Amino acid sequence: MRAAGLWQWTTLPPLPLEGLGTAGVESLDSYVVRLAATQGLTPVAFLDALDRCSGHPPIRNVYPRSGILGPGARFMDRLGTLERLTGGQLLKGGTFYALSDVLRRQHSGLSATRRWCSLCLADMEKSGVAARLSWALSELSACSVHGVLITDACLTCGAAQPYTIALANRQTCRACDGSLIAEPVYAHGLSKERQWIDKCIEELIAYISGPCPMIPPGGYERYLARVIREGDLNDMNHDFPSGPPSLGNLLRLSAYMSVPIMDILIRDEELPSKRLIIDDEETHLVPLRDDSRLYRALRIEMIAKEALRSKISPLPSMKLLLERNGLRQAPASLTESVIYRRYIRKYKVQGVNANGRERKALFESIFRLVDQPDGPSMTFLVKHLSEAYRVSPQIIRKYIKSALFLLAIECAAQSTYMA
Ligand SMILES: [Zn+2]
Ligand SMILES: [Zn+2]
Repeated sequence: MRAAGLWQWTTLPPLPLEGLGTAGVESLDSYVVRLAATQGLTPVAFLDALDRCSGHPPIRNVYPRSGILGPGARFMDRLGTLERLTGGQLLKGGTFYALSDVLRRQHSGLSATRRWCSLCLADMEKSGVAARLSWALSELSACSVHGVLITDACLTCGAAQPYTIALANRQTCRACDGSLIAEPVYAHGLSKERQWIDKCIEELIAYISGPCPMIPPGGYERYLARVIREGDLNDMNHDFPSGPPSLGNLLRLSAYMSVPIMDILIRDEELPSKRLIIDDEETHLVPLRDDSRLYRALRIEMIAKEALRSKISPLPSMKLLLERNGLRQAPASLTESVIYRRYIRKYKVQGVNANGRERKALFESIFRLVDQPDGPSMTFLVKHLSEAYRVSPQIIRKYIKSALFLLAIECAAQSTYMA
């Protein structure tokens, strides 16, 4: 038996979505909060009722962002019901509907917590709009309207704001109740690659929030295959997945090839398979935060491979290579590599007159000394180190030679796999 009060709407106010067709389009979760208020309901109660209208059990236990914005399948029922009940308002543009057939379900590139521009929040306070669709993308750095950095934590207490629909008032911090409309941080000196990514994101959002149908799948897959077959990824270690991409992978390929995301999605056959900008370190390779560990691992693998090929002796420990690349432990992608295992074996059997710990300390001292802008002279280095470590000058010279060689390889690896 149905409980009293489980009524079903036949109509809802025909509230338009803010900023439709622009890069600043309101996100559907913000819209739901506004629509719920017109019914005197909390957003959660509103969504429960909405799900009943679609003839489905409530799905609010699903991750709230994908349950309303997508991508995925489940948000579509809610979207369809909302469009029907609001008398045909165009609401798809506030979601990732257009990308539903294009993206894989793993959501790299979308933020797990809320992000916002504090000046936008202030501007929109009166209208009740509280989020733009573009803010859901974790790689968006700055608001193009206000030129301020996108914020992802309360400036008073530092708390991240969970992406929850239950929070009707989106202007205050969940943890400390302080206002999220705080003093903005202006985005001066944003790197070229971050500006490029922001531009791509805006173009993408403006497109998918306009009157566009679903984007057909396959653009990324075809383009990637071509770049691997005949272009700049040929013969290279890379981690671009085959099959449908995540938003994060789309952004990364777009930045790597310096071509707009939208072109990859809808005009892949017109794109170049060779990079437009080559050896320009700023745009050379733009690893997104998700993948920086992977790039470090690839870089270490390249350094180890070169060190073995050049028969460097003595070899520094793998631990030192990891530390120099900002890793404390070797990631699985590295330990599974043949080169990694060869390196470890070679390191163990090399007959150098010092134990592992001393060897590491000696290498560290050399790196520290030669990394200085006005490094000491070779004579000083040999004398100083052979006294400090009580090792003969011949052996110290070998170590210095190895270290200098490694620095050269590191530089080469650095430009291939920037962190
Ligand atoms: Zn703004
Ligand atoms: Zn706070």
